[in-house]
Amino acid sequence: MAERRVAERSLASFTTLRLGGPAERFIEASTERELIDAVMNADEVGEKVLILAGGSNLVISDDGFPGTVVHVLTNGMHVDQDACSGAMVTVAAGMSWDSFVAHAISQDWVGIEALSGIPGTIGATPIQNVGAYGQEVAETIASVRCWDRVEGTLKTIAAADCGFGYRTSWFKKNPQRYAVLTVTFQFRLGDLSSPVQYAELARTLGVEPGERTSMTKVRETVLDLRRGKGMVLDPEDPDTWSAGSFFTNPFLAPEEMRRLPGAAPRWEQPDGTIKTSAAWLIENSGFTKGYGNELVGLSTKHTLALTNRGRARTADLIELAEEIQRGVFDTFGVWLVNEPVLVGCELLGP
Ligand SMILES: Cc1cc2nc3c(=O)[nH]c(=O)nc-3n(C[C@H](O)[C@H](O)[C@H](O)COP(=O)(O)OP(=O)(O)OC[C@H]3O[C@@H](n4cnc5c(N)ncnc54)[C@H](O)[C@@H]3O)c2cc1C
Repeated sequence: MAERRVAERSLASFTTLRLGGPAERFIEASTERELIDAVMNADEVGEKVLILAGGSNLVISDDGFPGTVVHVLTNGMHVDQDACSGAMVTVAAGMSWDSFVAHAISQDWVGIEALSGIPGTIGATPIQNVGAYGQEVAETIASVRCWDRVEGTLKTIAAADCGFGYRTSWFKKNPQRYAVLTVTFQFRLGDLSSPVQYAELARTLGVEPGERTSMTKVRETVLDLRRGKGMVLDPEDPDTWSAGSFFTNPFLAPEEMRRLPGAAPRWEQPDGTIKTSAAWLIENSGFTKGYGNELVGLSTKHTLALTNRGRARTADLIELAEEIQRGVFDTFGVWLVNEPVLVGCELLGP
């Protein structure tokens, strides 16, 4: 376990937004034992802990983190595969998610091909039930093994008990409780994708929604679509210096939905609520692509991505996020909720 001093502002170099002040302590955990020890030792002395992985879903305050930051760098994979039951694949938390997706496709493991191009690590995927283009990790996760910081034990939590929902889980709702150590996925075997659910993806692939097609083609198409929206990280392109989508899509009661213009996108949900598009609400409240100032702004390619234009502080980004929240509320009466995890900073409530 390596402990090193983090110079002024250097947590910024661990987040895709390139924002965040210094950490009081910074520990690199390259093995599972180091990860558990780092978290356990800090918990024992009552120190605050921030588990930091790829930093692609984190907004860290300019004041930094007044405690121990544990950087997850674990790796390793175990595969149990046979033609009848498919592949059970257990992967260490610190491994790269997108490299794993590419590997899965090369091994004919079906079910995560549409999640290509999402930055970050394996261990973070169950936290917000990562999803895109009609797939979510909840569909292929079998279980999550973690260190329970409250009970001081190792625990394997079956997918059914992970509380997965739209961009959320039991882990996200209990942020100080679990350190994810490994995630086990269960895959069907085949060279065709799972049914393509997302209309834009199906259209671009030239298939009907619900049809299957080559997984390699799905990956390439998703990566192209994502690049067009600034949703693939590119160190040369400030339009991608974001935390992905900054706001989640709101789920509204039917009477709230009736107050929106007929043109607002709507997807009926099994529980009677209606999902609408945060991007549409933002755009139609006057915040068009590229909106902002010289420090922060909306990506020129995607309304939902709030970007650091190079010299911003976290406070600038929060100010922009609040301006958008207020603007959307004043226009449509809908209060947008942030998707990334905020550390040491917060947004105004409605
Ligand atoms: C350009 C871009 C595009 C994106 N597109 C998508 C998308 O399409 N869909 C989507 O769902 N998300 C998307 N995201 C968000 C982000 O990539 C995912 O949420 C990703 O899973 C975060 O992984 P990370 O390793 O970077 O986690 P971090 O940002 O380091 O951490 C995120 C949260 O998870 C916690 N955490 C991380 N690892 C562990 C662990 N081992 N144990 C316990 N807690 C842990 C952290 O404490 C923090 O609360 C995008 C982000 C960017 C920058």
